[in-house]
Amino acid sequence: MTTDTRGPRTAAVIGAGFGGLALAIRLQSAGIRTTLVEARDKPGGRAYWWQDQGFTFDAGPTVITDPTALQELFALSGRRLADYVDLLPVTPFYRLCWEDGTRFDYANDQGALEAQIAARNSADVEGYRRFLAYSRAVFAEGYLKLGTVPFLNFRSMVQAGPQLARLSAWRSVYGMVSRFIQDEHLRQAFSFHSLLVGGNPFATSSIYALIHALEREWGVWFPRGGTGALVRGLVKLFEDLGGRLLLSSPVDRIEVENGRACALRIGGERFAFDQVASNADVVQTYERLLGHVPRGFEEARRLKGKRFSMSLFVLHFGLARPQPQLAHHTVCFGPRYRELIRDIFHGDRMPDDFSLYLHAPCRTDPSLAPEGCSSHYVLAPVPHLGNAPLDWSVEGPKLRERIFDELELRYMPNLRRDLVTSRMFTPADFRDELGAHLGSAFSLEPLLTQSAWFRPHNRDDVISNLYIVGAGTHPGAGVPGVVGSAKATAGLMLEGAAP
Ligand SMILES: Cc1cc2nc3c(=O)[nH]c(=O)nc-3n(C[C@H](O)[C@H](O)[C@H](O)COP(=O)(O)OP(=O)(O)OC[C@H]3O[C@@H](n4cnc5c(N)ncnc54)[C@H](O)[C@@H]3O)c2cc1C
Repeated sequence: MTTDTRGPRTAAVIGAGFGGLALAIRLQSAGIRTTLVEARDKPGGRAYWWQDQGFTFDAGPTVITDPTALQELFALSGRRLADYVDLLPVTPFYRLCWEDGTRFDYANDQGALEAQIAARNSADVEGYRRFLAYSRAVFAEGYLKLGTVPFLNFRSMVQAGPQLARLSAWRSVYGMVSRFIQDEHLRQAFSFHSLLVGGNPFATSSIYALIHALEREWGVWFPRGGTGALVRGLVKLFEDLGGRLLLSSPVDRIEVENGRACALRIGGERFAFDQVASNADVVQTYERLLGHVPRGFEEARRLKGKRFSMSLFVLHFGLARPQPQLAHHTVCFGPRYRELIRDIFHGDRMPDDFSLYLHAPCRTDPSLAPEGCSSHYVLAPVPHLGNAPLDWSVEGPKLRERIFDELELRYMPNLRRDLVTSRMFTPADFRDELGAHLGSAFSLEPLLTQSAWFRPHNRDDVISNLYIVGAGTHPGAGVPGVVGSAKATAGLMLEGAAP
C-alpha cells in the first residue's frame, strides 16, 4: 500500500479498451503511478487485433474520427502522436450502396456531396445545407462543450437543459434528418451514423447527428498497420511514461473497505491501490467485481433494468485477391431500413434480411494482407441476447453463408473461390470474451433518458474513489466517446488525488 500523507498516488485501471488506455495515459502523465490490468492476452478491448496466414485483422473500430482527442493524449507529456502512429486519410469516408443500384460516395467535399444529392432530389441540396448547419451547432454544444464534462449531479443536467431544448434533443436522429431532407435514401445516408455507436436512429437523440459534423470537421482516418497499430502506439506511450500493463490478468473483485475501493483481487493475489477505475462492462463491474458489497449488487440490479444496444455478428475473412472495386468502408443497405432496425433493437429472432458494413482496409493500407491478397470484415447488427437468446453456434454458420451469398451477388463475385481464411465473432463472444452484458456491442443504448446524468456516472455515487470509464459512462460508445470519457474521469481522479 503506497498511500502517504500527501494523498493518493497510485491507481488501477481495469480493462485496456480505448477508454481504459486513454485514462491510464492521462493519470500516468499527471504523475499517478498507474497499473492497467487487462483480462485478455492483448490490449484494445473491442479494438483487439490478430494475424492469421499473413492477414492482419482488426476486431472492432475501423472508422477513426477526431484525431485531436488522440493527439491530446500525447501532447500531455510533450509528445507527438505522429511519432507513434501514422494516421492515413480515408476517401471517400464511406460508400453507401442500396439494392436498387444507388450508390452514394460520402466524402469531405461539399461540391461532390451536393452534386450527388441533387442527382437524387434537387430540393434536398438546400435541406442538406441546413442539416449540416444543425449538425455543426449540435457538435459545438454537445461534443465540444459537454462531451468531456462529467455529469455527476442532476443540477448539471438541468444546466444543460436549455441547450438540449434549443437543439430539439428530444427528436430522433431520423426525425431530425427528415425535417431537412425528403429523399428516403438520403435520409438513411444522413441518419445511419448513430448505429456506429449503438444508437437506433429512430430512438436516439438527434444530438447524435453531431457525428456528421465531427467527420466533416476532422475527417475519417485509418492507422497504418490497422487499428491495432493505434492501440500499440497508445500502449507504448503509456509504457514510455512509466506505466505498468498487466495482460492475461482478469480482475476477480474490487475490495472495498470503509466505503472506499482499496485493492484488486487477481488470481488469488491482492494488489492495493489508492484509486480504482473500471473500463470493464458496467454491469459486470457492479455485479461480478463488486457483487460482494451492497452497492455492487444494488447498482447491478438497477442497471439491468436499462436498455442495452444491439449486438453485432462480425465475420473476418482473407481473400487471395485484391478487391479494387470496393471502397475502404461500404455500408450495404438491405431492403428494409426502419423495419429492420426495429427488428434489431426489439425483435426476438434473427431477421430474414440484413444491412451490412463491409471493411476493405487494404484499399488504404495494402500491408494488411500478403502481396496480391486482401483482408476484410463484414458485420451485421443483430439483436442482443436479452431480446433474442439464440444459439449462435447454430445461427452463426447459417448467417455466415447468407452474408457470403449477398457479398458474392453484389460486391465480391468470387469470394468463396478466393477465400483463404475466415472467423466469426458473435453476440455470445461479446458476452464471453468481453464480459458484455447481454452480448451488447456498445453497452447502454444511447437514449436521451440514458445519457449524460442518466448514464452511469464517471465517479461512483457511493464508493468515492471508484471511477468508471468507457462506453458505459458519459458520453458513451465509439472511440471519440470513450476517449472523451477518459478525460472526464481523469479530471475527477486527479481532483480526488490532489494533496
Ligand atoms: C465490431 C465493432 C466495430 C466498431 N467500429 C467502430 C468504429 O469504426 N469507430 C468507432 O469510433 N467506434 C467503433 N466501435 C465502438 C468502439 O469500438 C467501442 O465503443 C469502444 O472501443 C469501447 O471502448 P471501451 O473503452 O468502452 O472498452 P472495451 O473496448 O469494451 O474494453 C474493455 C476491456 O476491459 C477488459 N475487461 C473486462 N472485464 C475485465 C476484468 N474483469 N479484468 C480485466 N479486464 C477486463 C476487456 O477484456 C476489454 O479489453 C465499434 C465496436 C465494435 C464492436
